[in-house]
Amino acid sequence: MSSTNTPAIQLVGLRKVFGSGDHEVVAVDSVDLSIAEGEFFSLLGPSGSGKTTVLRLVAGFESPTAGAVLLSGRDVTQRPPYDRDVNTVFQDYALFPHMSVVQNVEYGLKVKGVSRSERRQRAMTALENVRLGAFSRRKPSQLSGGQRQRVALARALVNRPKVLLLDEPLGALDLKLREEMQVELKAIQRDVGITFVFVTHDQGEALSMSNRVAVFNHGRIEQVGTPREIYDHPQTAFVAGFVGTSNLLSAALSGQLLGIATPHSIRPERLRLVESTGDASAAGEISVAATVSDLQYLGADSRVRVVLEDGSHLLASVPSDRLVGVAIGGSVRLAWSQHAAVAVVDSDQLQGENK
Ligand code: ADP
Ligand code: MG
Repeated sequence: MSSTNTPAIQLVGLRKVFGSGDHEVVAVDSVDLSIAEGEFFSLLGPSGSGKTTVLRLVAGFESPTAGAVLLSGRDVTQRPPYDRDVNTVFQDYALFPHMSVVQNVEYGLKVKGVSRSERRQRAMTALENVRLGAFSRRKPSQLSGGQRQRVALARALVNRPKVLLLDEPLGALDLKLREEMQVELKAIQRDVGITFVFVTHDQGEALSMSNRVAVFNHGRIEQVGTPREIYDHPQTAFVAGFVGTSNLLSAALSGQLLGIATPHSIRPERLRLVESTGDASAAGEISVAATVSDLQYLGADSRVRVVLEDGSHLLASVPSDRLVGVAIGGSVRLAWSQHAAVAVVDSDQLQGENK
């Protein structure tokens, strides 16, 4: 971490329009963002929401239609990529197959004319950063997919950039490897202390690794916050639905269930099943009668879909050992604490779980 408070990256009123006339695409729209030095920061959003374009604007591969990019307080908007202290790791990183791992990592330094002994030393340090010190003499074909991805990371780290941009770098790996790499990547970032800006469409990935997350939709940021803030207090219907699973209650249903006629979000795991007879719900809880429409056993937890009297659907996630006596077509009562319902801004996304 730096001793100053100058952010590593500032994006000010950033806008990028591709094409013109009828073919105009607004890829990035009014993005304001400040990323601190040493942060692991994720840009999260569906495909086409503008994440890659933001990274390319930061790296200098694109120039904005409007707005500015500042790196460590310096306006680099008009500067070329080589004059910016950032490096990018892409999903399809090409390693040179005929070179050893260490030769791949030091190649960029060789091109820059760094002396043989210095570049070897820096390449070995970068390989140790990604825990591949013992693999330096292997060829890429003798490594696993995850190890090759770490070589690509070392190749970027060897330049000692202040900021590392990562565009869906784990996208090509299978699930188990991806989960291992999430842990690795976070540990590597903590060790090297470089600011990471990580692009992903995978909410689990963003939540598990990041200090903070910006959620993108249609080129705009819908919310910025810590993973916990984003998950527990989604501000918009879109964020509630995209990050984790959510029950989005329309204004009408919220009025009926909560007594507040604005849209709300409730996480499935905040809904409890209580005895359908009698009012077993505790003080400060809200409850409603429902009919079970579907049961999905997932191991430790199960998903219970219910229909309310007015035809609305809700999804509850409950520990499987609480399902005794619950069956499709049966009557249940759902209860939740008043705090479990979070008000969200209506952003035309209220299809979801309701109706
Ligand atoms: P993401 O990385 O979130 O999937 P992108 O930043 O790649 O999204 O794209 C955002 C939008 O901009 C999309 O509609 C995409 O088709 C469009 N776009 C991206 N690059 C170009 C380009 N070079 N020319 C025209 N349209 C583009
Ligand atoms: Mg992309």
